[in-house]
Parts: sequence; structure tokens; C-alpha cells
Amino acid sequence: MGFVSAPDVDAWLRGGGSVVAASERAARAVKAAFHRDRRAEGLTAWPAPQALDWKSFARSAWADRGGDGLLLLNPMQEESLWCCIIRDSGHTAGWTEPPRRRLAQLAMEAHELLCAHAPHLLRPTARSAWQQDHGAFSGWLTAFDDACRADGLLSTSRVPLELLSLLENQVGGRPPLVLAGFDRLLPIQQKVFDAWAEWRSIAPGEPAEAIRFYSAANEQAELSACALWCSRYLAGKPLARVLVVAHDAGQRRGEIERAFLKPGGGAQPLRFEFSLGVPLLNVGLARAASLLLRWLDDSLEEHEVDWLLGNGTGAARPEEAAALQTVMRGLRRKGLQRTRWTLNAFVRQRAGSAALPSAWVERMARAQKRLEATPQTQSPLEWAGLVPQLLETMGWPGRTSPTSAEFQAISRWQQAVDSCGSLGFDSRTMTWSEFRSTLERALAETLYSAESQDAPIQIAGPAESAGLSADAIWFLGADEGAWPGSGRTHPLLPIDVQRSARMPHASPQLDWELAESITTRLLAAAPEVIFSYANQKEGVETRCSRVVAAIAGTPRPLPSELAPDSPREPLTVAFEDRELVPVPAAPPVVPAARLKKSTAQLSLFDDGAVQPAAMQVHEMPGGSNVLTAQSQCAFKAFATTRLGAQDWDLAEAGLTASQRGQLLHAVLHAVWGGPMHRGIRTFTELQELGPDLRVFVEEHVQRVLAEEMPAAAREQMQPRYLELEEKRLVRLVTEWLEYERTREPFTVEATEEDANPTIAGLTLKLRLDRLDRLNNGSLLVIDYKSGNVATKSWELPRPDDVQLPLYAAFGLDRENETGGLVFAKVRTGNLCFAGKVRDAAATLDSSLDRKSGLVKDPLTPEQLSEWKEAIAQLARDFLDGRADVDPRDYPTTCDRCGLYSLCRVKERDDEEEPEDEENGWEAGDE
Ligand code: SF4
Repeated sequence: MGFVSAPDVDAWLRGGGSVVAASERAARAVKAAFHRDRRAEGLTAWPAPQALDWKSFARSAWADRGGDGLLLLNPMQEESLWCCIIRDSGHTAGWTEPPRRRLAQLAMEAHELLCAHAPHLLRPTARSAWQQDHGAFSGWLTAFDDACRADGLLSTSRVPLELLSLLENQVGGRPPLVLAGFDRLLPIQQKVFDAWAEWRSIAPGEPAEAIRFYSAANEQAELSACALWCSRYLAGKPLARVLVVAHDAGQRRGEIERAFLKPGGGAQPLRFEFSLGVPLLNVGLARAASLLLRWLDDSLEEHEVDWLLGNGTGAARPEEAAALQTVMRGLRRKGLQRTRWTLNAFVRQRAGSAALPSAWVERMARAQKRLEATPQTQSPLEWAGLVPQLLETMGWPGRTSPTSAEFQAISRWQQAVDSCGSLGFDSRTMTWSEFRSTLERALAETLYSAESQDAPIQIAGPAESAGLSADAIWFLGADEGAWPGSGRTHPLLPIDVQRSARMPHASPQLDWELAESITTRLLAAAPEVIFSYANQKEGVETRCSRVVAAIAGTPRPLPSELAPDSPREPLTVAFEDRELVPVPAAPPVVPAARLKKSTAQLSLFDDGAVQPAAMQVHEMPGGSNVLTAQSQCAFKAFATTRLGAQDWDLAEAGLTASQRGQLLHAVLHAVWGGPMHRGIRTFTELQELGPDLRVFVEEHVQRVLAEEMPAAAREQMQPRYLELEEKRLVRLVTEWLEYERTREPFTVEATEEDANPTIAGLTLKLRLDRLDRLNNGSLLVIDYKSGNVATKSWELPRPDDVQLPLYAAFGLDRENETGGLVFAKVRTGNLCFAGKVRDAAATLDSSLDRKSGLVKDPLTPEQLSEWKEAIAQLARDFLDGRADVDPRDYPTTCDRCGLYSLCRVKERDDEEEPEDEENGWEAGDE
């Protein structure tokens, strides 16, 4: 049928001739080249060129020739029809909808393959010998044809066959065509073009003058070299166009984007475009619309709410968006996070002072009412009509004048909604949630790419590159495993049918021929062509593609000028900041009392951390955590206390460990709270409870759960789960009190006791779990722990936890001797005290043997004074503004802290030898 030269195609289009391209992408490329030429001629307006992709051409030619008596099914309608047929066939009894839908998609593909490659097999009698899965598909295909005939429907795959029949019955009168970008013509395409009239293909260009084939050490080096080469090439030829071909461009999209945005060698980010789009559901506006619709009658996961409110879509004004984000932050600061949020629960929550914008609440409520007032079941068309109304009520898309890209996304979104609405073609009805799920699936399956900006670098897969030409081409991934690309034969068609009809991937020979044809086409599409492959992929050795090697010769190693920068340009500049920013001075005040009812306040400072009678006192929230953080990492203390930095706790499906701990503390506080809390206070009272101990505990647990259980937990969790939590708590507290019955006599002096000691000018608000008066009159400081703790955390010089040493050293009245400080480990199977006691066997538990840590390692006055000095030094460091990024135990300390993004400890020079803990501390202390 002949060829037309590429330069003549422009004259052909200018003369009103038509071009049929293999794909939408190839048709766009033809039009883009035409427009570029017109602009280069200085024109400002010109007639649009006639360039259509194959499917559009076949559809319009069929419709022009009287094919409009049938309803042409769109992909969603056709899939839905196949789904019904497969379900009614009984082959998928017991299947859920998603696998049945996947089977329907396979059936659609098989049907399309038959139409394109072996239309004679569309006759049922030609398939009579098909067995098993193939036989089942044959039955579905017969039912599909019957349904289409009965209802006047037509599959898109049948359009070329219908067109062929019309062409064969109408002779002449058809303008010649030029074909672009066909690597090979399918049998049906060949027949249609032959029946059409005269047609020609665009002649292949001159073979490339420069062909190179490189091998790189790995995929990263290969990609970096490609980006660097593109950057240099375009720097030398600013008007040139480069085509990058990558067979896995879709999967490696992020990696490719990063490489081209940072091409190395100090080059500027490159302008590039991918030929393949992204799922519409991943496009911000479409995702926001989908979430807003779901929120009206269903819950959203917390990260979805976070994204939706942070995204600003749905907020009428920037201030409204900021207010919504403030509420979300407030929720987390108050620990009110949930795994899922219904709209009603979100609107009802109270996250402190920040309130939800009333206009937003009112709009959401109106949309919800609008939906509730709609019949529960109606046609998809009616639901599709309701969607824009609901979104408009909610304020989507949130901006009065969308950008061009947003406008395109909105229009693509509306097309997806309309496609779902078209499912009413068979008079079905559905519920709102069914329609919503269908829409979400359509959004996930629809690929979207914004209109081309004619970027100088185009990135495409080998097949999508058909019809594209450039000044230079770089083909990535030319290794034996990837090129020729291999695929699987179709499971619903007999293998001999696929082979004889030469369907894709029916034999390795076919894959080889296609790869050869694409490679040859690429070699004629640019004067300069570079192939490359990585010697190693995911740690596995690879070999070069034999198809490419046969044309381009043996690969050579990447030239040194394309080697990745070594080392990479640093993103940050190291700057050693030795400056200290002290805590701002507060007005002089007389030091606060260290313990309620204390009578000897000032004399407490006579130990070296001496304070004048009137001094600068700085009150800090956060209790002992300030000094614990200062000891763990000075920057952590600075960031959490002075900058208010905070890591988020993720919401959990059940009660969090922290919520469980709080409930346990509350129950023990009530139990030992004395008559005011209907509790007890002494060892004797505990013994007197006798067998009623469990009943006593149950009453307290029930009361505490009724008063303290977080509202969100009550709303979200099953009553049965809460019952189990109650039983667990009763058992644990009962066991603990049984254990306390074995102690030496004691009296509980205080529970949840507040103290405000001032340490070297820093006033802290402390709250102690419990203070016991022991049988020798001394005081025992107790901290309840339900997690795993060890007294090792108190060890100097950098204690990991200063709470109890701090309280024992500064929180107690001097008149009272400190008898010990202990963790009360309230854990099933491991109930015990752990800590330091002056005389544990005499005052705590006479059954302790000499090997027990409590006996072996008693509390001494020296130990107390060492803690006192170390803690006072921590307070001074904090007030002086010492904020070194110096974790006590990297990375364990950092993993518990979570402020990585703020302190950027991970960006420290990895080469740096880690200093030993003590030296690091002392060096910074100078
Ligand atoms: S992450 Fe580590 S280095 Fe960073 S502030 Fe926290 S403890 Fe310090």
C-alpha cells in the first residue's frame, strides 16, 4: 500500500487528509508536531488536523455509515453485562463480587482477542470442541451475543467487524488514509484498511547515525546516567526533543521522577512528561470528592480524614481550611484520635478551644440531609445526577477558579461519574453505597494524565512510544529478562487457537518479532539512539538483550562522564551551633514550696544547688519529663518543652497501652484513696477485707470505668470487648492486692500527690502515684508500671528516667526520711516491687532473700545526693538552653522519641565514629 515520507505528512494534514494512529498517544503526537510547525511559521490560528486513534476512527466510521441503530456499550457497561452472564451461568456460585468482576474482565479480553485475531471463532459452532474453562467461556460468549442481539447492544470490540461488513457492502467514495505508529497491524485492522480504499504508512525515518549500547552497574546508576545525559544534551541543544523509553515506566515512575528532578552534576531539574497516566483516584480533587461522598453515610479512616482536611478541598476559604486542620491537631494533642471517624462523631467531638467552622458544619449537615431524603434505591443515572449536587453543597472543589490541571481533573471526574450513571442501561437499580463503591472502582481503574505541555523529554513504554519521534532516544532496561517482554497466554482461550491466530505472547517467537519490530522502529525515530541495561537488578546478575545486541553490538560500560556524582552533592550544609539560648528570665519570686504543707522550703537548697531567698524561678509544664528528656537528649527537652514539638500516637482499634495504664492508675488511686473514695488506706484494712477483696475491687473497677473510660472507646468498641477489659482489670488489681498482703505493715500516706519542687531555679509540677509510710517511719516512693521497666534506667551519669530519683531527692519534706523508691510492677505473671530501699527485708518484705536486688543493692544517702547533684545539673543545662542533638542511646532513644524530622539526627555524618557515651557528654559539657 506504500509509504508517505514524514515531512509529507504535514502537507497531507494541511490539505485536509486524515491520519489514523495506533493509539491515543500516537494521535496526540501527530497533532502536537503539526501544531509545533504552525507555531514555528508564526501563525496564531489554523484548522485542527484530522488525526484519530484506531478505536475512535473505527467508531466514527461505523457511526457515519449508519451503525447508530445499536447502543454501543462502554467498558463499564460491558463488564457489568459479562458479570451478570457469568453469575447466571452458575460457574461462580459462592464467589464474592470482586473475583467475579476479575473473571468478567478476562472474558472481555478474550472476546476482544477473538474479534481482532480470529473473528471466525465468534460463531458458536466453531467453538463446539472447546472444553473446561475454554468451554465455559464459549458458553458465556454465546449468552453475551444473545443478550446483545435481544437488547440492541454492541461491544466496542465488535465495532471494527461491523465496520468491515459495512465497507464491504459500500464501494468507493472513501478518502485515502495515512497510518501512524503501528508496530504491526492486527488482522482485523489489516482487513478494515484494505476494505477502506487507499492507505499508506508513514515511511520509517533514516536509520540512526549514532547507536550506542551501555551497561551500568545497577538500575540506579543506569537511571542517573540517563538523566545526566538528557540534561547535558538539552543544555547543548535547547530546542531538541528527547524520548526516554522504559518498559516499566509505570512501576518506576517515582524513581524516574526523582532522577530527572535531580539529574546530578549540578544540573537544573528537567522538564519531562510521562505518556502513561495515574489512577484518577490518586488525583487530589478526585480523591477528595470520593472521600467526601463516602463520609456522608460511612466512616473514614483517620489518615483519610487527616488528608481530606489537610488538603483544603471542601473548605470554602483558606481560613476555613486552616481551622479544620487546627481541630485535627487539637484532637491528637488531646489523645482523642480514633481509627475511624463518622461525620457525626467528628462534628460532635470537642478538641479543646478550637471549634469546627460553623459554615463547614452546616454545609456537611445539609448534604447529609439531602442524601437521607433520597430514596434508598434508585437508578444509577439518578445517583449520578445527585453526586454533583452533594459535592456542591459540601463546597467541593473548594476554589472558585480552578487551574487548568484542576479543570481537566474535574472534567475527567465527571466523565467517571457519568460512566457509572450509564450502568442503568439495563434498568437496574442500586443503593447509594453500591453506587459509591462502583464509582470508587471506576476511579481506581481510570488512568488520568493532564494535557501535554509539550515537555522536551517524553517518557513512554516501548509500545506507547509508537508514532513518537525525537532528536535522541534513550532506551532503558535493555536486558535479556525484560526485552523482549514476555507475557502469559490467555487462560480462557485454547493455546492452539492463540498460536494459530498469532495472539500476543502465544509463543516466544512472537514476543521476539514484536521486540525486533519496535527496536527497529525506534532506531529510525531519531538520529541518535542509546540503549542501556543494568548488570544487576535487585541483586541478581543480568545479561544484555540479544535483540538489542544484534543491532547495537556488544554493550560497553557507561562512560565516566555519565557516572553518578560521587559523593552526591550534600543537601544540607553542616553548621555547628554552639550558641545557647537560655530560658527567658521570669520576674523574681520567692521559691515555691516543694511539697504541699512543707515547712522547710528554703533550707532544702543547702546542698550545692543553692538558691538565694529571692530568685529567678521558671515554671515548666511536663513534670519530670522535662529533665528526663534533658538527660535522654538535650534537644528533645528543648523541642518538646520550649518548641511544643510532639510526636503523634496513632489511633488503635482497641484501648491504647497508655489508656490501659491510665485506667489501672485510676483504679489503684480509688482503692487506696481512703474513705473519700470508698477505699482503704492501711495494710490492716487490706487484711480485713479477707475474702471480700474481689468484690471490693469489682466495685472500684466498675465505678472507674463508668467515669473514666474515654467516650470514643465506648462508641467504637463492642460491649463484649469492654467487658473483657473490665474482667482483666479486676483480675490484675486483685492479684496485685493479694501480693501487697504479703508485705510488712504500711500506711498509704498519699496517692496522686502533687509537688512543685524548684530545682536550681526550675519549678516542676510533679504528681506521684503513691507514698507509703513504712514500719520504721520512713517514706516509700511508689510508681505504678504496667509495662516493662528496670531500675537500670536510673543509673548515672545519664539516667533514662529521672521521675522517682527526682521525687525522692527533691519532692520529699526533709523531716521525712526517704525509705526507698520503687516501681510497682503491676503486670500479670510478674507482680513485684523493683527499686532501691534502705532496708527492704525489714520494711518491705521479710521473705526477701539476700540475693534479691532490693536487699543486695540498698538505697544509700550517697546515692541520693549523687542523684540530687546530677538532676540539679540537668535543670541548669535546661535553663541555660543547652540543646545538643545527643541521644543517650542511639537509635533506641530516638525510636522512642520520634522527633527525627525536627532534629535530623539521621543526617549526621555516617562516617563519624560514635563517641562513647561518657566522652560525648563531657565534651559537650565544657
Ligand atoms: S530523635 Fe533522637 S536525636 Fe532527635 S530529638 Fe529525639 S532523641 Fe534527640
